[in-house]
Amino acid sequence: MYDYLVVGSGLFGAIFAHEATKRGKSVLVIDKRNHIAGNIYTENKDEINIHKYGAHIFHTSNKEVWQYINKFAEFNRYTNSPIARYKNELYNLPFNMNTFHQLWPSEVFTPSDAKRKIDEEKAEAVCNLQGKEPSNLEEQAMCLIGKTIYEKLIKGYTEKQWGRSCKELPAFIIKRLPVRLTYDNNYFNDIYQGIPIGGYTKIIEKMLENIEVRLNCNYFDHKEELDKISKKIIFTGQIDQYYDYRFGRLEYRSLRFETTRLEEQNYQGNAVVNYTEYEVPYTRIIEHKHFEFGTQPKTIITKEYPLDISGSNEAYYPINDEKNQKIYQQYENLAKSETNVIFGGRLAEYKYYDMHQVIERALNLCK
Ligand code: FAD
Ligand code: UDP
Repeated sequence: MYDYLVVGSGLFGAIFAHEATKRGKSVLVIDKRNHIAGNIYTENKDEINIHKYGAHIFHTSNKEVWQYINKFAEFNRYTNSPIARYKNELYNLPFNMNTFHQLWPSEVFTPSDAKRKIDEEKAEAVCNLQGKEPSNLEEQAMCLIGKTIYEKLIKGYTEKQWGRSCKELPAFIIKRLPVRLTYDNNYFNDIYQGIPIGGYTKIIEKMLENIEVRLNCNYFDHKEELDKISKKIIFTGQIDQYYDYRFGRLEYRSLRFETTRLEEQNYQGNAVVNYTEYEVPYTRIIEHKHFEFGTQPKTIITKEYPLDISGSNEAYYPINDEKNQKIYQQYENLAKSETNVIFGGRLAEYKYYDMHQVIERALNLCK
């Protein structure tokens, strides 16, 4: 009899399993995939660490979280500074003085020029709101940054990423994006940032050292047997699936990754290039070697195509609009009444968590 069955060997499950084992508990970890590490899985090919499930950049301002993750890997000094390509124009992200000068080269040189220009750009949208809070992503973006940036750098990218109009998307999605009046291309505001040298999979391997792991094992295919051999369950899969969709399906956005090896040393000169126009079907191209300043003779790139979740497509991004939140609340209420099952992580809590937030949640649970 195991003290804990951990369903899912992603970051949440692995931290829980590690901490519980450290405290003398017996743990069995299962995963339906044929590898550990969930979405932070990296695979080494041609001596390049491939981020199999999309670009993963670690960032946090929480010192405890940073110190914790550094026990499992050494991090490099990578700073995320994506480039946005809109038709034949290139812009620095996040929105900062470089972007503003690139957009208005004869008008914006200083922060006060930029402020004046952005105020002018957003004046109409702010006025239309008449003091009310923005109720959707389009209103939020227009008030935050104005029409030109919304149309060139946000609208197309967001509508393909989420598969719906910006008018139907919640405002909070765009609040993640910083707007700065400095020449600073660092995508994140956090104090700590980097990529684990040698890839993320090694972190999870270290966490799960000496812990029994069964791969290719879907909880729902062996539920009866697995429930019998464990006292408690930590479930990190989809909460709606756990409850057999009794309140309806939660919606997710999925992705298709198209990975290609190229016989050249440097394809795009940056780890991440976003394609912000709607007509290009992918949202971004990742060139993996640049996460670790690679100098290999070849390169590997991945195009990310957003998709609906249907058939065997994996669930990646929860769509936290009002309709889905209402459904989730019903599942959450049920979850709270469970005595033997704890739900945690991006899928089970139906939240757009980054890695540092997942670590925080998992450590709090262990405490
Ligand atoms: P997951 O990694 O999804 O792990 C859940 C595991 O459970 C999976 O391995 C799955 O196979 C398994 N599982 C599910 N159901 C079952 C079942 N029925 N039976 C057995 N096993 C099951 N975060 C950042 O901090 N920085 C970034 O740059 C970043 N970029 C991202 C880019 C993309 C494209 C995506 C999708 C996410 C990104 N994230 C990023 C978020 C990050 O991936 C998550 O915060 C983190 O991986 C979540 O860990 P988790 O353990 O909750 O979930
Ligand atoms: N976004 C955008 N243009 C960009 C990058 C991001 O409009 O070039 C919007 C988009 O709606 C996206 C959100 O900002 O979903 C959050 O972006 P982030 O880069 O944090 O997304 P993630 O890396 O989690 O996919």
